[in-house]
Amino acid sequence: MQNKDTSPYGFLPRFQHFATQAIHEGQEPEQWKSQAVVPPISLSTTFKQCAPGQHSGFEYSRSGNPTRNCLEKAVAALDGAKYSLAFASGLAATMTITHLLRAGDHIICMDDMYGGTNRYFRTVAAKFGLKISFVDCSRTKLLEAAITAETKLVWIETPTNPGLKMVDIEACAHIVHKHGDIILVVDNTFMSAYFQRPLALGADICMYSATKYMNGHSDVVMGLVSLNSESLHDKLRFLQNSIGAIPSPLDCYLCNRGLKTLQIRMEKHFENGMAVAQFLESHPLVEKVIYPGLSSHPQHELAKRQCTGCPGMVTFYIKGALQHAENFLKNIKLFTLAESLGGYESLAELPAIMTHASVPKSDRDILGISDTLIRLSVGLEDKADLIEDLDQALKAASQIEIQREEEQRRDRETPAALLHPS
Ligand SMILES: *Cc1c(COP(=O)(O)O)cnc(C)c1O
Repeated sequence: MQNKDTSPYGFLPRFQHFATQAIHEGQEPEQWKSQAVVPPISLSTTFKQCAPGQHSGFEYSRSGNPTRNCLEKAVAALDGAKYSLAFASGLAATMTITHLLRAGDHIICMDDMYGGTNRYFRTVAAKFGLKISFVDCSRTKLLEAAITAETKLVWIETPTNPGLKMVDIEACAHIVHKHGDIILVVDNTFMSAYFQRPLALGADICMYSATKYMNGHSDVVMGLVSLNSESLHDKLRFLQNSIGAIPSPLDCYLCNRGLKTLQIRMEKHFENGMAVAQFLESHPLVEKVIYPGLSSHPQHELAKRQCTGCPGMVTFYIKGALQHAENFLKNIKLFTLAESLGGYESLAELPAIMTHASVPKSDRDILGISDTLIRLSVGLEDKADLIEDLDQALKAASQIEIQREEEQRRDRETPAALLHPS
């Protein structure tokens, strides 16, 4: 269900009741003896039973924890899902989902995906007899051609990182489900539950690195998974307990708190991201800007059809060479030079040398991850201050270049002057 009020920039209408559910779903004070309005951090690892085998819903904290329970209920509501499960990290969620498979099964995943997921499939899952293909799933014909009788899992990410390429979730779901019992997973980390609902578009599992926007405060590492299928949920709940990659109660408390402001945070990320993208697009020292909210984005129409808005992830190519990108990143003051994304604070990084350094140069070239590609995670500061910071850093980067050229010219001219003293 979606709100009738229209979203800015022609995106899908907002999901109905979102903020209300984020604040109230799973948080009922009546579930606690104390009637606590804010869910307590339940640190106890074990729970009293009234008779052997007779417990009040909780036995042992790996199998189930009251604070985790509150979080999982809120997340399920925000994804329009029946069930949600929390894990120790995004990759712990990925690993647990992968344990649904057995040796010999085949996984298809996006060629352009989070480096850690790529590394896990390539170097860890492959060791256990799983076969992996990397495919550009934004081209559904390629996806369909890659499906074999052994294919059991298709893993997509949209938008991709740092290229911000969009994948049509509905089209992928249509193709995947035509070929039988294949699980379609969408990594929804970049969009968050507020901007995109993969399950409503036909995905079987929606997963997050909650480390990013869902928690949003850069102080928790966590993974989340939402789904509607009861049988798949039962299997994952069994694996969550059997593998044990669960988050701590404190982290569950913090992430649950982060969700309370997800809507207002994402609205502001969108506003600031759009302002920064528009500013950069009009800047003479910028080669090109990639932001799905801009009409210049090649899949802007898909973004508007699939999402209710865009987060604060903005990618751009600075004019010049590596030196210019480095100078820019040395000169930013408000943006912090750091990896990760999705927190309230603005970050900037150079994927070719930082987050995507482990991607082979030949693959980086194909994905457009050049030495001048800069990735911004636009935070919640005043947008005028953010733009001012970017402007001064761009100018400083080009200034240094002018100085360097002058020095080089002086160096070139000096020997001549010495050879022919007047
Ligand atoms: C960070 C990230 C992950 C991995 O999550 P962790 O919480 O760091 O384990 C997976 N997918 C995407 C898109 C990410 O950005």
